[in-house]
Amino acid sequence: MTMQHLRSSFWIGLYFIVAVAPLLAMLVEPPPGRGFWREFAVGIGFAGLSMMGLQFFLTGRFRSFTAPYGIDVVYHFHRLISLIAFAFLALHVGALLLASPELLLLLRPASAPAWMVTGVIGFLAFVVVIVTSLFRLKLGLSYEVWRAVHGYLSVAAVLLGVVHIMGVDYYTGSPVKRGLWLVMGAAWLLALVHVRVVKSFLQLQRPYTVAEVTPEQGRSWTLRLRPVGHDGIDFQAGQFAWLTLGKTPFTLREHPFSFASSAMERGEVRLTIKELGDFTSRIGDTAVGTRAYLDGPYGSFTIDGNRAPGFCFIAGGVGITPIMSILRTMADRHDRRPVLLLYGSKKWEEVTFREELEELKQRLRLELVHVLEEPPPRWTGECGLITAELMGRYLPENRMDLEYFICGPGPMQQGMRWAVARLGLPPHKINSESFNFV
Ligand SMILES: Cc1cc2nc3c(=O)[nH]c(=O)nc-3n(C[C@H](O)[C@H](O)[C@H](O)COP(=O)(O)OP(=O)(O)OC[C@H]3O[C@@H](n4cnc5c(N)ncnc54)[C@H](O)[C@@H]3O)c2cc1C
Repeated sequence: MTMQHLRSSFWIGLYFIVAVAPLLAMLVEPPPGRGFWREFAVGIGFAGLSMMGLQFFLTGRFRSFTAPYGIDVVYHFHRLISLIAFAFLALHVGALLLASPELLLLLRPASAPAWMVTGVIGFLAFVVVIVTSLFRLKLGLSYEVWRAVHGYLSVAAVLLGVVHIMGVDYYTGSPVKRGLWLVMGAAWLLALVHVRVVKSFLQLQRPYTVAEVTPEQGRSWTLRLRPVGHDGIDFQAGQFAWLTLGKTPFTLREHPFSFASSAMERGEVRLTIKELGDFTSRIGDTAVGTRAYLDGPYGSFTIDGNRAPGFCFIAGGVGITPIMSILRTMADRHDRRPVLLLYGSKKWEEVTFREELEELKQRLRLELVHVLEEPPPRWTGECGLITAELMGRYLPENRMDLEYFICGPGPMQQGMRWAVARLGLPPHKINSESFNFV
């Protein structure tokens, strides 16, 4: 078992223990039982709230915690576990009403006790958090509005939940049990303070300035960021950081971008950004001299420490950026392991880094295959999408020993999952980076 496995098992174990801690505490000096369904409702409610509170740790960007899995996996887990926790809270409400329908009488606005009001409002806040997350696009919410609603309402809902539990005061009678909830509540808030205040404060100490903004093929721009008063950031090729442009890092307007430059370059870093939505479509207008902040590096989409005898990279559109960083780094390190790059783009004019990739062939053992969805007349190369059949034609005989890195739009990621399965490639050798994990 590797250190990585040990660390990931440790965090999973700790997560489980903390999630069930309030349930275990119920068993210590329990008050008189009130029937199965009532006790079940309380237990499942405790577990649901504790799992909701733990979400602040999952999204708290603690590097030691996210490193063994990759931050995108952590975000997927966050999404999945939120649904499970919400189902627990809904079961809490359902089972309570089933066991004690008379509780409905306590909902009368004039006479409702505070613990009931906080419980109901907290639950409704969770409903809004879940619905807006599942149906953000259908509801027409911009990412920024969604993120603000998500953040503020989640904090409110969890705090109301703790106040509700304290107010009910049945299983929290003893100081130890009250203390447990208070400590857990404080720890959740600290995780939030870590990502919203501590991280921003650290960024403030290490600002950057936009030194150059260069247009690239494929409606993309490269921002060259120069550190101001510090040495810059140490990252592994393939990793990413959250970028904030403007005077202060204390803002919700931050966006994740992969480093595109070589990890061997010291000081300045380059990010290549495709025009897509409200923030990125104005990226080309960024003035030289604009202040910038980076929170990172994050991610495990990297070849560092990987002893594979060769690599196969599969990129779609701007998904080339982390792969470009890896290729540039390999060239700077004189890494002569064979590399196959399957690069899908819509049109030839839109192929980002087209010329530099050709040049890299001189410095790497690189086989470059462009796959165009809309090829120009007289194109003799590959057309359409990257499929298992196409991959099969280029992969070498030792394909089972290669390490695979896939980065592209959602549909491509899905297609690649099928392709990889059809080719029987070993799942543990497949690394993928999703650009829309939120
Ligand atoms: C790990 C990672 C690495 C990335 N690397 C690159 C890169 O190198 N180059 C590049 O061009 N793009 C990259 N992206 C995608 C980039 O973050 C989004 O395109 C960008 O944030 C869109 O913002 P917008 O306001 O212009 O678009 P919008 O139209 O507002 O959003 C489009 C979609 O982008 C996502 N998004 C928007 N804002 C954020 C945000 N603040 N945080 C996270 N996701 C957001 C949402 O899924 C949204 O639906 C990366 C994304 C991730 C997760």
